[in-house]
Amino acid sequence: MTQHFDYIAIGGGSGGIASANRAALRGAKVALIEAKHMGGTCVNVGCVPKKVMWHGAQVAEAIKLYAPDYGFDVELKNFDWAKLVESREAYIGRIHQGYNGYLAKNGVTVINGFARFVDNHTVEVNGERYTADHICIAVGGRPSIPAIPGAEYGIDSNGFFELNEQPRRVAVVGAGYIAVELAGVLHSLGTETHLFVRQHAPLRNFDPIIVDTLTEIMDKEGAKIHPHSTPEKITKEADGSVTLHLTNGQSHNVDQVIWAIGREPVTDLINLHATGVETTERGYIKVDEFQNTSVKGIYALGDIMEGGIELTPVAVKAGRKLAERLFNPEMPDAKMDYELVPTVVFSHPPIGTIGLTEPQAKEKYGEDQIKVYTSTFAAMYTAVTQHRQPVRMKLVCAGPNEKVVGLHGIGFAVDEMIQGFGVAMKMGATKADFDSVVAIHPTGSEEFVTMT
Ligand code: NDP
Repeated sequence: MTQHFDYIAIGGGSGGIASANRAALRGAKVALIEAKHMGGTCVNVGCVPKKVMWHGAQVAEAIKLYAPDYGFDVELKNFDWAKLVESREAYIGRIHQGYNGYLAKNGVTVINGFARFVDNHTVEVNGERYTADHICIAVGGRPSIPAIPGAEYGIDSNGFFELNEQPRRVAVVGAGYIAVELAGVLHSLGTETHLFVRQHAPLRNFDPIIVDTLTEIMDKEGAKIHPHSTPEKITKEADGSVTLHLTNGQSHNVDQVIWAIGREPVTDLINLHATGVETTERGYIKVDEFQNTSVKGIYALGDIMEGGIELTPVAVKAGRKLAERLFNPEMPDAKMDYELVPTVVFSHPPIGTIGLTEPQAKEKYGEDQIKVYTSTFAAMYTAVTQHRQPVRMKLVCAGPNEKVVGLHGIGFAVDEMIQGFGVAMKMGATKADFDSVVAIHPTGSEEFVTMT
């Protein structure tokens, strides 16, 4: 017998869970379909395990780089990678329990299995059919692998989180968030790490102050960056190692190659052809500003949608807004605002950014309309040690009233500085508004309100 729901969310990741819970809280009869563990990419093979590894790397840096000048006579005898993985996975297990408990409390029916569309209102899971008035596709993406010989000898970010032993020598290929974050973690934990980027630098679309500073710090104390390096093939060696061959004729022998060259949608797995839902050539689902697909009653959000921002909190917010619009009569026009989304890269050191880069702002408003403020200082945490590390910040202001349209920072603790500035920028804060706030001293964030 076919079960009918008001709302079915396909995909128990950040967006699917958030929308299912909110729909249920608004009184809808809801099902959430997930084939694996709750939490999707973020909780299982993304943000959460990555951040745990990043914290592990921070501990390593504190012991190795900073402890001596703070007067601690410590010797790092051993680092047990498997122990860190064990602690990480236990933590993730507790998150799974939390998600399952909250879904149960809200009365969401969880269906374990892989959903495939039968028609515009029906999906099939493990041979059972389920129908709904509203179906939300939130199945996310998977890491891309390049189409070159031997690509299968490399692993992707999912494979990174399956490593139970620390690789001795690693080549990370890619230039985005994941490449920079994994390279930083591996390097700080003691792996000989090489980062291969196709162009001149990683994160090249970030503000130049970020790109230049990251490159400068990595060159001094981070993973080795190999610019202008495009992979051609990988060969497997008799000793189990792998060799990464580049189109520039160079080759590098390592224990592990990690692909971090972007992600792609998994639309191909859900029999979307049974519906009239339109996708782009690469498989991203086309949606309007309300997450509506081309088929009435089918929605898409998160990493699967065209033109989205591949960040967990974006999917969460979009999911909640959609549920409010569908099931809360007081919010019939609720929709996600994709402007001014703050984001952090957990690199070494971390990066925080909101809004336009300086080049983007000049392009949008005209060069003569932009005023830029910057600040450079040594993070106090590092300034008393031999490993002084710079913090660099930039405000990009537009128009005669100097509205802050871009905020960028890299350095110690920047990851925890920018959330509140996001609120200010969403409210349309100007440079004068920033200046009107009394600085908190001594902190790094005070520089954002004292720039001249
Ligand atoms: P990104 O899209 O951020 O970056 C991938 C980069 O790799 C490309 O921009 C490109 O840079 C380079 N690249 C692409 N193809 C190739 C190739 N064939 N060979 C070599 N290099 C290539 O992808 P990620 O996988 O890093 O991350 C996906 C998304 O996940 C991110 O965009 C982000 O939104 C999200 N994420 C967020 C995190 C956070 O919030 N902290 C952490 C991790 C991921 P170029 O053109 O310069 O060569």
